Amino acid sequence: MIAEVIVDVAAATVDRPFDYAVPELWQELIVPGMRVEVPFGPRALLGIVVGTKATSDLTNVKSIVRVLDETPTYTQELLELSAYLSETTLCFQATALLAMLPAALKVSYDKLVIVESGPLRAYHGKKMSQLPTEVQQIILTAAKQADVTLQPVIREKKTSKTDKRIHLLEEQATFTKQASQQAALYSYIEEFPNALWSEIKQATGATSATLNALEKKGIIEVETIDVRRNPYEHLVQDIFVPSSLTEKQQEAVSAITAEAETGTFLLHGVTGSGKTEVYLESIHAQLERGRQAILLVPEISLTPMMVKRFKRRFGERVAVLHSGLSLGEKYDEWRKIAQGEVDVVVGARSAVFAPLTNIGIIILDEEHETTYKQEENPRYHTRDVAKWRATYHRCPVVLGSATPLLETYARAQKGVYRYLPLRERFGGELPPVDIVDMRKELERGNRTPFSLALIEGIKERIERGEQTVLLLNRRGYTTFVLCRDCGETLQCPHCAVNLTYHQHEDRLKCHYCGFEAAMPKTCPSCESTKIRQFGTGTQKIEEELAHLIPEARIIRMDQDTTSRKGAHEKLLDAFERKEGNILLGTQMIAKGLDFPNVTLVGVLAADATLGIPDFRASERTFQLITQVSGRAGRGQLAGQSIIQTYNPEHYVIQTAKQHDFETFYKREMQLRKLGGHPPFWFLGLITVSATHPLEAQAEAQQIASELRAFESEDLVVNGPFDAPLARLKNMYRQQVLIKHKGQEDVRTHLRDILARRQKSKTQVAIDLNPFVFM
Ligand code: ADP
Ligand code: ZN
Ligand code: ZN
Repeated sequence: MIAEVIVDVAAATVDRPFDYAVPELWQELIVPGMRVEVPFGPRALLGIVVGTKATSDLTNVKSIVRVLDETPTYTQELLELSAYLSETTLCFQATALLAMLPAALKVSYDKLVIVESGPLRAYHGKKMSQLPTEVQQIILTAAKQADVTLQPVIREKKTSKTDKRIHLLEEQATFTKQASQQAALYSYIEEFPNALWSEIKQATGATSATLNALEKKGIIEVETIDVRRNPYEHLVQDIFVPSSLTEKQQEAVSAITAEAETGTFLLHGVTGSGKTEVYLESIHAQLERGRQAILLVPEISLTPMMVKRFKRRFGERVAVLHSGLSLGEKYDEWRKIAQGEVDVVVGARSAVFAPLTNIGIIILDEEHETTYKQEENPRYHTRDVAKWRATYHRCPVVLGSATPLLETYARAQKGVYRYLPLRERFGGELPPVDIVDMRKELERGNRTPFSLALIEGIKERIERGEQTVLLLNRRGYTTFVLCRDCGETLQCPHCAVNLTYHQHEDRLKCHYCGFEAAMPKTCPSCESTKIRQFGTGTQKIEEELAHLIPEARIIRMDQDTTSRKGAHEKLLDAFERKEGNILLGTQMIAKGLDFPNVTLVGVLAADATLGIPDFRASERTFQLITQVSGRAGRGQLAGQSIIQTYNPEHYVIQTAKQHDFETFYKREMQLRKLGGHPPFWFLGLITVSATHPLEAQAEAQQIASELRAFESEDLVVNGPFDAPLARLKNMYRQQVLIKHKGQEDVRTHLRDILARRQKSKTQVAIDLNPFVFM
C-alpha cells in the first residue's frame, strides 16, 4: 500500500505529493487527512496524507516512519480546500494545509547529529537547530556522504493539560489523629465527588504526598483526565432574553435562512441597525436545523462584549478562536471543534478553516476590514475561502458592514450578491456629524490639537455624567527622532523607515522588524546634543488634553497601553464602569464598541489617511469616520460626532458627514474607473526582494519584460518601481504590478514565472489580490 503525502519542506522545488510505502502495521489504519512523519533526503519531516493507492510507478519508495494521528486532522473537505488555495493563490499545498492548523498541531522536527569520529566530532549529540547556519550546511553535506547520521527528534509542543479525578473506594474510612490531612481530603471528596485535584489541593491544603498515601492504602483511586482550558470562564452568564426583531431585521433573517438557500448576501446596515441581532437569529435558525455556523469578525472587535453576546445566546456550544489565546487555549478550542463538541465558531481570519463538518451559515462581520486578507502565503481573502466552503456545504454566506467594500457593493448592484439593507438605527437616529475646519482654529490662535467646539463638547459631557470617545487617526500621530543641527532622522538600520521613540521605556523601536535601541544622547552623525523627538504621539495628546480639561479622567488605548495580554479588555471594562470619562485611542477603538453612555465622538486628524499612496486611501478614510461616528448615541441618549480636518470640502469628509454611502460610492467608482483601479481591473502584485538593490532591480526588470510579452488591451504591466517599503529587514524591494480583466491564464503566466525562480537568489512573492500596499 502506498500513501500520497504532501511534505512540509520549504526547499521543495515541485508542488506535488510524494509516494511513501505504508508498513503492514498501519495499512488498516491510515486514511487521508492524517499527519505522518516521513524521511526526506537526510531529514525527517511532517507530512500530510492526501490519498492512498495500491502501487507506485516509482521504484525505491521509502516508508512512512510514524503515524501522528489516530483520527484524521484534516477532513476531506479541508484537503480539497488546500488544493484550491494552492491553485488560486499560487502557494504550495503544504503551505495551505499548515495555515489551517493551530500552531500547536504544526509539529516541527529537529535533527540530532550523530558522528563518532573525525573533524565534526565536536557536534556529536547536538541538535541541528542549535548550530549556526554555516555549520548546519557543512553537516548536511557530510550527511549526504554518510560520514554523519542525522536522527530525527520531534518537538511536539506541550499542549494538553491534565488534572486528576479522585474516586473513593471505601465508603467509611477512619483516620488517626496524625493523618488529619488525609481525613480532610477524604471528607472533601465525600462532599464534592466531582471536584478536581487542582481545586481540592487549594481547598484542603493537601499535597501529593497525602494523595499517594491514600492511594497506597487503597482508599481512593486516582484517574488522570484531560481538561480543557476555558479562556472565557470568567464571563458572567446573564439570563438571556431574545430580542423581537424589527420588520426589516426579520426580512433579512427570512431571506438568509430560506430553505436550501445557498447565495451570498450583503447585509448593508448602518451602525447600530442590529446586524449582530440578524447574525444571532440566522445562526439560531440553522442550529435548529441541526447545522453549524462560523461567525468571522476582525481581530480587533473580538471584544469580550461580542463574545459575551454569543456565549449568552448559544452557551457552551460556542468556540472562540483568536490570536490573544495561549497556544494551549487555542489547541483546546480547536479540539472541541474537531470533536464535534461545539456548533458555533466565533473567530478572526483563520477561524474560516474551523474543522466543522455540517456548516449551515458563514458570516463575515465588518467585511470591509483589511485583516480579512492574509498578507503572507497563502495570500487568501477570507471571503473567498468562506464562499468556497459554503459551496461545498450548500449554505449561504453573509457579508455584513455599514461601509461595504466598493467591490462588494458593486457585486450587490449587479445582482451577484443579494442586497439586504438596514437603513435605520435600532431605536434612534444616526448621530449628527459636525465638521470642524482646523485651518480656522489656527487663524483664531488655537494651536492645540483640539478645536474649541470639541473641548466645549467634552466639558458638557463630563458635567452631564456622559462619556466621550476620541479617535486619534494613527497616521497623524507618528513620532520620529531628529537632530536639529544636521537634520539627520534616526532610521532603522534594517528597514527604510524612521524609528519611533517609546517614552515609557525610553527606547527606539522599528515597528516593521522589531529592532530596538537605546535613545542616543548625541546625534550619531554630527554628535550634537540637540537630538529630540518630533511629531505628536498619543501620550503627548493625552497630556495636552489633561491640561486643557483638568477634570478629565482619560483612559488611553494604543499599542503601548495594550501590549500585554488582557490589557485591552481591562481598559474597556474600566471605561464601561465609568472609571474614565474619556476613552482616547487609535484605530483600535473605532469598531465594535457599544457603550450606551457615550454621547460624543471626536476624530482628530480625520484626513491623515487621505494622503497614503494607495488607491483605497479615500475608501479607508470614509470607513474610519463612519465607523467611529457610529459609536456615539447607541443607548437612550442622543449622540454627536465632531470631525476635525484640514480638508473640510473633500468629498470623503462631506459624504461621511451626511452618512451618504451612495454618493460616496458613485464618486469613488468614477475615480476608480478613470484611474484604472479595482473593481474595474484585477491586480497582481509581484514583489522581488534581494540583499542587493541591483539584484532586486535586475530580477524585477526581467519579470516585467517576461510579462510584457502578454500585454494587450486587457493586460497591462506597470513597473518595476520601488516598493512603498523599499527596504525591509535588510532586503531591498522592487515591485511589478499587473492589471488585467480577470483572464484565467494570468495565473498560468505567473505560476511559470514563480517556477522558473525556485532556485534563484532573490525572493519572489506574488499576490493576486493585493489589499494593503507595502
Ligand atoms: P450593529 O451590529 O448593526 O452595529 P447591533 O446588533 O449591535 O448593531 O445593535 C445595536 C444595539 O441595538 C444593540 O445594543 C442591540 O442589542 C440593540 N438592538 C438591535 N436590534 C434590536 C431588537 N430587535 N430588539 C432589541 N434590541 C435591539
Ligand atoms: Zn546631527
Ligand atoms: Zn526595521
